[in-house]
Amino acid sequence: MASPRVLWIYPSLSLLSSLLLFHAFPPCRALRNYPENEVTLLDSMSALADLGWEAYPNEGWEEISVMDERNTPMRTYQVCNVMEANQNNWLRTRHISREEAQRVHIEIKFTLRDCNSLPGVPGTCKETFNMYYYESNNANLWFIKESQYIKIDTIAADESFTQVDVGDRVMKLNTEVRTINNLSKKGFYLAFQDLGACIALVSVRVFYKKCPLTVLNLAQFPDTITGGETALVEVHGVCVNASEEFEPPKMYCSADGGWLVPIGRCVCKPGFEENKDMCQPCRPGTYKASATDAYCTKCPPHSSSPQEQATECICEKGFYRAENDPRSTACTRPPSAPENPISTVNETCVTLEWAPPRDTGGRGDIIYNLNCTKCSGDGKKCTKCGSNVHFVPRNFGLSSTTVLVTDLEPDSNYSFTVESENGVSALSPTPKGKVVINVTTSQTVSVVLKERRSKDSVTLAWQGPERPNGVIVEYEVIYYEKNQREQNYTVLKTRSNMMTVEGLKPGTTYVFRVRARTDGGYGSYGGEIELETSHEDVLAIGDPNQSTILAVSIAGGIVLLIFLVTCFVVSGRHCGYIKAKQDPDEEKMQFQHGRVKLPGSRTYIHPHTYEDPNQAVRDFAKEIDASNIRIERVIGAGEFGEVCSGRLRMQGKREIYVAIKSLKAGYSDKQRRDFLSEASIMGQFDHANIIRLEGVVTRCKPVMIITEFMENGSLDTFLKKHDGQFTVIQLVGMLRGIASGMKYLSDMSYVHRDLAARNILVNSNLVCKVSDFGLSRVLEDDPEAAYTTRGGKIPIRWTAPEAIAYRKFTSASDVWSYGIVMWEVISYGERPYWEMSNQDVIKAIDEGYRLPAPMDCPVVLHQLMLDCWEKGRSDRPKFAQIVTILDKLIRNPASLRELANSSVCREDPSTPEFSVSTVDEWLDAIKMGHYKENFSSAGYVSLDSILYISVSELAKMGVSLAGHQKKILSSVQSLQTQGTHVQV
Ligand code: AMP
Repeated sequence: MASPRVLWIYPSLSLLSSLLLFHAFPPCRALRNYPENEVTLLDSMSALADLGWEAYPNEGWEEISVMDERNTPMRTYQVCNVMEANQNNWLRTRHISREEAQRVHIEIKFTLRDCNSLPGVPGTCKETFNMYYYESNNANLWFIKESQYIKIDTIAADESFTQVDVGDRVMKLNTEVRTINNLSKKGFYLAFQDLGACIALVSVRVFYKKCPLTVLNLAQFPDTITGGETALVEVHGVCVNASEEFEPPKMYCSADGGWLVPIGRCVCKPGFEENKDMCQPCRPGTYKASATDAYCTKCPPHSSSPQEQATECICEKGFYRAENDPRSTACTRPPSAPENPISTVNETCVTLEWAPPRDTGGRGDIIYNLNCTKCSGDGKKCTKCGSNVHFVPRNFGLSSTTVLVTDLEPDSNYSFTVESENGVSALSPTPKGKVVINVTTSQTVSVVLKERRSKDSVTLAWQGPERPNGVIVEYEVIYYEKNQREQNYTVLKTRSNMMTVEGLKPGTTYVFRVRARTDGGYGSYGGEIELETSHEDVLAIGDPNQSTILAVSIAGGIVLLIFLVTCFVVSGRHCGYIKAKQDPDEEKMQFQHGRVKLPGSRTYIHPHTYEDPNQAVRDFAKEIDASNIRIERVIGAGEFGEVCSGRLRMQGKREIYVAIKSLKAGYSDKQRRDFLSEASIMGQFDHANIIRLEGVVTRCKPVMIITEFMENGSLDTFLKKHDGQFTVIQLVGMLRGIASGMKYLSDMSYVHRDLAARNILVNSNLVCKVSDFGLSRVLEDDPEAAYTTRGGKIPIRWTAPEAIAYRKFTSASDVWSYGIVMWEVISYGERPYWEMSNQDVIKAIDEGYRLPAPMDCPVVLHQLMLDCWEKGRSDRPKFAQIVTILDKLIRNPASLRELANSSVCREDPSTPEFSVSTVDEWLDAIKMGHYKENFSSAGYVSLDSILYISVSELAKMGVSLAGHQKKILSSVQSLQTQGTHVQV
C-alpha cells in the first residue's frame, strides 16, 4: 500500500512544495521579520534541524525537507492519503512554552489539493483538516489521548490546487491564523488532524502579542504582554529622566498589542525643557522656573544664568527681585531721589511737592516717605518733629507727590526729607534716594508799628521778618472794623514797609494785621492791633500817650507793635495810580463777604507818556551803584547786549542772585531809551509772577538793568529739557502762575503782545514769571516775529487773528497767546502748529482750525485752550477767570484725570478695548507695533516681562521719542492694574 502513495505523492509533493516556495512563498524566509509587537514562541520555518513532531500512525504525516530559494532546507509536514478511506492522521508539536502570555496566536501556512483535481480519488477525499491544542505544565508528554485535545478549528483552504501539474501555474499558499485564549499552564501542545486530505503544512508559527515599550507625554511605558481574551491591561508610565508627574500617566495595552487611551502626563522639572521625549537642561542665559512652563526662556532684563539647568536668573549687581515679583520679570533697582522739590509756605502750613524720580528703577510701585525735623536757627541742631505736626494725607507710604504739612510752629526752620522707595529698596544696601526741602516759617512780621492817626486815616509802618525764607515780595495789610470781619474787610498790598490807610470812618475802631509774602508763600500775621480813628484831626509825633506798645504772640512768636506818632508824608510823586495819595507800591482790594469789591486799581503808564523818558526810569527804577554788583557769568544774549548772572549786595540787605542785562557799547540815544524802557515798564510791576526789577545802573557804563535771577531760564527751553518729567499738577501750577501774572498785567491795563513760553522765566522753585517788557521787543527782538501785510512784526503763531489782521492788541489777544502758552507747556515745548508756514497758520485759523490737544492733555485744559482761541475776543475768558479755573483744577486733581487723547485713564466705557496675550498684540493694540522688534530683541517676550519696564530701558532699546515712551508706559500701567485688557 505504501508504494503507490510514495510513487504518487512524493514526487508530486516535493515538486509542489518547492514550487510553492519559489513562487507563492518565495522571498520571505530569510527576511523573516516579525512585527514589533509580536513575540514568536515557535516558528517551524526557522528550525534548522528536524522539528521532531509526533506523527501517528506512521503512514500519516511525514516530515519532509525541501529547499527554499536560497537552497536552505526547510521543514514541512505533508500527508496525502486520499485514496484510502478512514484516515485519522495526527501530527503533534513539541511542548510550546507560553511564557507570560495568556493569549497566543497560531499562524499556519499550507497548501491543500482540490479533491476534484485528483483523478480517481474516492468520495472520502477531504479538503479540510482540524487543529487542536492541549494545555500542560509537562513539557515531555509522550502521549496525549485524542479526547484530551481541545479543538481550535477546522481549517479549510481559501485557495486549493486544481491540478497536480505545476507547469506555468501560479500556486497559492493559504495562511490562517487562530487564537487560543486564557492559557494558564506552562505551555501547550498543538495537534493537526487529517481525515483524508492532501495537505502540505509549510509553516507553523506560534506567537503572542505585546504592547512595545513606548514614551508618551514624557512617561515611559514598558513592554507589556496583552491580556487574555479582550481584556485591556492598565499600565502606569514612569516619568523620564528630569521630569516629574503632572498627572499620573497611564495607558491601556489592548489585546492586539496597541496602546490605548493615554491619561496624565509628566513635565520637565524646573531647569529642563522637553525635547523629543526627553528633558534636556536649559542652556546658559535661559531658565525655566516652573515644571509647568513648556520651555526655557531667555533671562529677563538685568539678570543672567551662567550655568546650565537654571531655574531662575540671578539679578545683576545692584538689581533685585522682590519676594512677590514673578521670576519672569526684569530685575529692578531702587528709585533715584525725588526731583524738583517745591515748598509753599502759608503761615504755619507748608505744601511740599516734588516730581517722581528720574529713574524709577524699572518698577511702578514707588512710594514716598517724609521725615520732618525742626532745626535751630543756624541749622546745626535738628530734632524730630513732634506729634503735633500733621501731614495730609500722611507722611509715610505716600503714592502722591504732594503733601500738606500743618500745625508747624511759626518763626521756625524745618527740614523735610522726602525719600523714594519701591518694592526692592529694602533689598539694596545703598541708601534710599532722598531730597531735602528746607522750610522756614519765620515770616511773622515782627514789627514796630508806627501810627499817625487822623479822623479818616491811619499810617502804619513795620519791620520785615527777621529771617524771611526768601526775598520779600510784598506785605499784605488786612483791616476791618472791629467785630465786622466776617462782613467786610479790606486787604492792602505793598512792597514798602509803611502804608497810609485812608477813607476810614471817624471815631471808629479798626483791627489791622500785617503779613509778608516771599516766593515761598505767605508768612503768619504779625499780630493784631486795634486802633480808633480820632473824631478830630490829630497830629501827634512821638507822644507816648498816643503810642501803643503791643506785644502780640502767635504760636510762640512775640510781635511787638508800637505805633509811631509821626507825621508821615505820603509820597505824591507822579505815579499815575488812581489812588493818588496811596503809596505807589500799594495795591488795594476790598472784600465783601469774601468777594472782591472793585478797588481803585493801578494803571500802567506807558514810558512814552513821559516827555523825558529818563524821568520814567527815575520814577520806576531804583538807581543801583555798580560797585554793589558782581557779574559772574554770561547766561544769554539779549537784543541790546549780553545777559549775565551775578550777585547784588545792597546795604543792610542779604546778597541776592540777579540777572544783569547790559547795553552794549556804541549805542544810540534811541537804543538807550528803548533799552531802559523795559526797566521803566518792569519797575511798575510788583507781582510774584512778573519778573522783578531790582534796579538800573545808568550813571556809569555799561548801562545795566538788574532783575531777579531765574535759575531755570526760559520756559520753552526748560520744558524741552525736562520732557515728560512733571506731574500734570506741576504743569497746571506753572500755568496758574503765568495766568496770575497776566491777570495782574491786565488789571493794570498792560497788554504784553508777545506772551510765549520763550518769554516766561522759571526759577528754582518752578515759579514761572512773565518777562520781556521792552518796547521794541516785538518789532526787533523776537525771532518768531514776522512782518505782516500791514507792516509791523508779529509772532504769528502766538497772536490772535484780530491782532494780526488789524493790530488790535488787547488783554483778550494776550488771552489768545496764553492759550498757545498752555499748549506749549502741556506739550513740553513743542512748536505750535509744528512746521506749518505762518501763512498756512493764518489761513487755517481763519478757517476754524485749532491746535489739537497735546499728548496726555486733560480734557479740561484743552477746553480752556479752545476757549482762549475763540474767534470773538469778547468770548474768550478773562485772566481772572482763567486763574479761578486753574485754582479749581489744582484743588480737585481728579478733574484732570480724563485725558483728551490718551490710551489709558479714560473712563469712557465706550472706549475700544482689546484683550491681548502677547507683547506683539499689545504693541499693535496701542499702535506702537513698529517697536515689536525692539522689544523682542531686548528680551521682552512675555506680557509679564514688560510690567515693570522703565523709561531708561525704553530709551536703551531705541524707543527714544518721549511721546511714545509715555504712551507705552501709561499702557503698561493699565496692564498692571487692569490685566490684559488694553484700551486704545
Ligand atoms: P531777554 O533779552 O530778556 O530775552 O533775555 C535773553 C535770555 O537771557 C533769556 O532767554 C534767558 O535765557 C536769559 N535771561 C534773561 N533774563 C533772565 C533772568 N532774570 N534770569 C535768568 N535768565 C535770564
